[in-house]
Amino acid sequence: MTYPQEFVDQYREAGLWGTRTIADEFHATATAHPDHDALVGTEGRLTYAELDARTDRLAVAYADLGLEPGDPVIVQVTNRLESVVAWYALLKAGLVPVATLAAHRGHEIAHISRAVGARAHLVEPGTRGIDLVEFAHEQARDHPTMRHVLVLGEEPPEVDPDEARKCVEEIQHGIGPDDVAVFQLSGGTTGVPKLIPRLHAEYWYNARAYADVLGWTADDRVGHLIPIIHNAGVVCGIHAPHTVGACLVLTDHDLDTAMPVLVAERTTSVLFGHVHYRAPAHPLYSELVGTLRVVVLSGAKVSEELFTTTARGGAQVGQLFGMAEGMFLVTPLDASPELRRTTVGVPISPLDEVRVLEPGTEQEVPDDEVGELCCRGPYTLRGYYGVDRPEAFTSDGFYRTGDLAKVTVIDGHRALSIEGRIKDLINRGGEKINAEEVELLLLGHPHVLEAALVAMPDPRLGERGCAYLTTDGTPVTLADLQDHLRALDVAKFKWPERVELVETMPRTKVGKLDKKAMTADITTRLESEIA
Ligand code: AMP
Repeated sequence: MTYPQEFVDQYREAGLWGTRTIADEFHATATAHPDHDALVGTEGRLTYAELDARTDRLAVAYADLGLEPGDPVIVQVTNRLESVVAWYALLKAGLVPVATLAAHRGHEIAHISRAVGARAHLVEPGTRGIDLVEFAHEQARDHPTMRHVLVLGEEPPEVDPDEARKCVEEIQHGIGPDDVAVFQLSGGTTGVPKLIPRLHAEYWYNARAYADVLGWTADDRVGHLIPIIHNAGVVCGIHAPHTVGACLVLTDHDLDTAMPVLVAERTTSVLFGHVHYRAPAHPLYSELVGTLRVVVLSGAKVSEELFTTTARGGAQVGQLFGMAEGMFLVTPLDASPELRRTTVGVPISPLDEVRVLEPGTEQEVPDDEVGELCCRGPYTLRGYYGVDRPEAFTSDGFYRTGDLAKVTVIDGHRALSIEGRIKDLINRGGEKINAEEVELLLLGHPHVLEAALVAMPDPRLGERGCAYLTTDGTPVTLADLQDHLRALDVAKFKWPERVELVETMPRTKVGKLDKKAMTADITTRLESEIA
């Protein structure tokens, strides 16, 4: 299901949605800023002209393999310069990247690649712990649609740059701005991950609106440490700087390797996810503040101390709430410190619409009261790919995020704060673990009778998964569960990291599993263990 025509017309007439594909938008920026840095990282640097030419050439190589516009391509890569090159090359070849994680394994990839009918699988060689190239070949065996394994960093054959440009232009000519550009994965609320279709015009607009509210210009140098092929990576890291001719400073997530690069590259703006809330305490942060103008924090509540230490040196500190389904809330730069510290701000688009509803109803709650954040707008999905999930939307198309929020009026802004969630997932340092998906897998263990996966607090990652189990009398250990999930080839970040065996599962008065009670129980246990 896609945007109703009346909304498409409205978004386009308002000048929010453009008429170009993402590849053409990037090429337009590259033509306007040919000698500016577009992308730098530990492996080197590329100006806009270089990145444009290189991605044209790689796009031709992809097309020459027989891959055709519209073909979905599973992408499993990390924060490497070549990952961004491949991203634009795929789009220039008219292919549709499917943004999976390098950490996904057979359980996830087999399902996603079949659901979307993937034709190719792009992997990075030399990753730690697994040979993804070999993995991709294994996955391709007996796959109904998979035809090619693409290896990141392989040099494409030489082609005349004008010929390559002509070829890309011909491909792009056949693609519309409202066609699907990318599939993102939903954190999800039920068993299997859902695919989110992102369209060329709305996805690029999402990035442009984000760059605009942060006041970025072609002089900005934007640091990015969290996974680049996540939604936040693509929007905030790749596309947003490239909507204004700015430079992406791409690093990996480790602060000790990231900080020297951010400092050396005179980074002006950076996004820190929850796992990087320690960054302001890093010895090199004092050097970084000399160039930092804007710092965005995202993923968890911001303490007064974090806010103050991040702002030392004069950077404007703010917050972002974002999701692969669309909706972005950001604290306006000129808003008061109170708003920027205690809320995630306001929608980034003038045509975003937000309602905070009594969960399960269409009844709005008053300001200052907590309800479910629901939204509709020029970059928020209207339906998942291939599945009908009417319960995820209100009758008039507002997406029910599953996050709990409240509106507070501060300095005339109706600012939102995130107050929890009703969707059953665990946010492990930004990676979402779908509880139901893991529980179903745990129930497949021969001795497990009942299973509940709940969040336990973790100082670094925010949350980790703890499994509450009843068994048939045979004790089940954490190692047993991990062996079980390893045998099912489930991504490691989803594996429970603690087990609590119980006689009977805590239940609510109406007989449902009482996950709140379990989270409270494990939180108390952890506190007493530390004490
Ligand atoms: P994803 O689709 O992986 O980007 O994850 C989106 C989800 O991350 C949201 O629905 C929230 O549950 C969570 N999230 C994103 N930003 C924030 C934030 N600033 N504070 C709390 N939770 C957040």
